[in-house]
Amino acid sequence: MLLRIIGYWAPYPRAGQACPGYLVSSGDSHLLLDCGHGVCSQLARWLPAEKLGAVVITHFHPDHYIDLFAIRHIIRAAMFTGTRQKPLPVYMPTEPDYHYQSFAAMEKELQVLPLHDNGNFTVGPMQVKAFPVDHPIPAWGVKVDCQNRSLVYTSDTSYHQQLVEQIQGTDLLLCEASLRLADGAVAAQLGHMTTADAGRLAREGGAKTLLATHFWPEYELEVLQEEIEQEYNGKIIMADQDLTVPI
Ligand SMILES: [Zn+2]
Ligand SMILES: [Zn+2]
Repeated sequence: MLLRIIGYWAPYPRAGQACPGYLVSSGDSHLLLDCGHGVCSQLARWLPAEKLGAVVITHFHPDHYIDLFAIRHIIRAAMFTGTRQKPLPVYMPTEPDYHYQSFAAMEKELQVLPLHDNGNFTVGPMQVKAFPVDHPIPAWGVKVDCQNRSLVYTSDTSYHQQLVEQIQGTDLLLCEASLRLADGAVAAQLGHMTTADAGRLAREGGAKTLLATHFWPEYELEVLQEEIEQEYNGKIIMADQDLTVPI
């Protein structure tokens, strides 16, 4: 598998960049995890969206789904010109219902499917499993397995014990680290993790590599990395524009 960082800022991107979007590929099979502000434009630099095999929207905060509206139009155009025949499968939470229903109504272009607890689906050789996480609105983490390698994406969540179990021994933990070490109380309240939480999660879950993401654009990433290093002495990668990581 190959992970390409399409966007990693939240809740708004730095100039010319994007909010969360992660392209996971195995051969010609491509899965997009989340689709925030700017993802459509950044993705186009690597892959025509009509070549996507599926999209997962982990929750309905705009930094994770808003560019799905644009992807829908790319699919519509591709079906019109004949470069794509079938609607794009998009897995998403069923709540809030009005979001789910509004995308479900775009059935010509999007095949909307609900995320279920431990529900599995495949994209080419990649097996995908969703699990609930802890955020102010229903949100899902995602595990992708392929050829005895695994990736776990936390989406947005506070630190909690079940998360440690979900990530056990994963090869790559794609983990939000939204807030500074000193902001633990705020992080728990907002349903996010601090740098220290991310490091602790990677350590307790035995992740082989921690790829930290979901950064506020005003932070200095060197400072965030130093804080993560205080909790985790394994391999740490900070999300970066155009970063590609083999798994
Ligand atoms: Zn969120
Ligand atoms: Zn977010």
